[in-house]
Amino acid sequence: METLLDAARELQWKPFRLRQVHHARETELVSGWDQMTSLPQKDREWLNGHIPFDCLKVMKSEISEDGTAIKWLLETGDKKRIETVLLIHTAPTKKWGTVCISSQIGCPMKCAFCATGKMGFFRNLTADEVLDQFLIAKREAAKQGIVGNLNVVFMGMGEPLLNLEAVIPAIKVLIDPKRYSLSPTRVTVSTSGILPGLKRLFDEKLNIGLALSLHASTHELRLKLMPANAVYPLDEVMKEIRKWEKKTEVLYEYILIEGVNDSPKDARDLLKLLKGRNAKINLIPLNPVEGTGFRRPAARAMMGFLRLLEEGGLAVTLRHTKGDDIKAACGQLNARN
Ligand code: SF4
Repeated sequence: METLLDAARELQWKPFRLRQVHHARETELVSGWDQMTSLPQKDREWLNGHIPFDCLKVMKSEISEDGTAIKWLLETGDKKRIETVLLIHTAPTKKWGTVCISSQIGCPMKCAFCATGKMGFFRNLTADEVLDQFLIAKREAAKQGIVGNLNVVFMGMGEPLLNLEAVIPAIKVLIDPKRYSLSPTRVTVSTSGILPGLKRLFDEKLNIGLALSLHASTHELRLKLMPANAVYPLDEVMKEIRKWEKKTEVLYEYILIEGVNDSPKDARDLLKLLKGRNAKINLIPLNPVEGTGFRRPAARAMMGFLRLLEEGGLAVTLRHTKGDDIKAACGQLNARN
């Protein structure tokens, strides 16, 4: 598929032309080449004939009953499907959004509790496919009155650190002041703990946030939930994360699963693991996935777990599961391909 760089070459654009096109698409949020009236007519005709305005097609969008989550089913040029989610947060004086972006079609990591892992793995997304997810969400956010107040989390389908060829260039565009101009602190990459990827991403010095999908505090238990732990053991991953902690508070995601990782001993193991670290923990009530046999703990049990961590001095939140009713929450994305 041809890209805007091909267009720039073919139409012999000076650098300002490409900047103009990016600005119209990403900031003015025009919705088609024909709306780019600053371009000569012949250029618009060429673009119409050669490059789809968006490289992802919206197949379906769903909005949660309370209006705080929107999920898109998107189709790539080769007819594969992914999902992207926009979460809308409202406080008395402000409204902001978080775009949950997919980095792969399916996921090879096979985490035991995750719907995406059950899909299998199809291919990596391109940087343009990563960025178009953000653009689709940004257009919707603008309609809802959210302008310039967007966070991006790479927590959708796939393991972003297995697709750094696309994820790093996409992040660079997101934080480029001449493009989407997001503050790096608004971008968070979440990983199951891919060591070489962690090292490479750190060396890029992008100053973005990091989240680790932890879900268990001991090697043995984590191995049962996340096969990646066999290749990249937890202690080595935690050692590598020390470097990140010097620059930013690292977010640890911990999906609470009844009878698996929600006991007082599990809380104590978690406290031991994160003691003295620049860490914040996000407890996530499990969103049960058919066929896994895992269940969400009772609210009382989850509150008890939270209290133990708080008493141990950990910065901890228990996430309200937005978008439950449209299966837009953590570990539930499962575009049928
Ligand atoms: S939790 Fe993340 S890394 Fe694990 S299978 Fe699901 S998408 Fe992949």
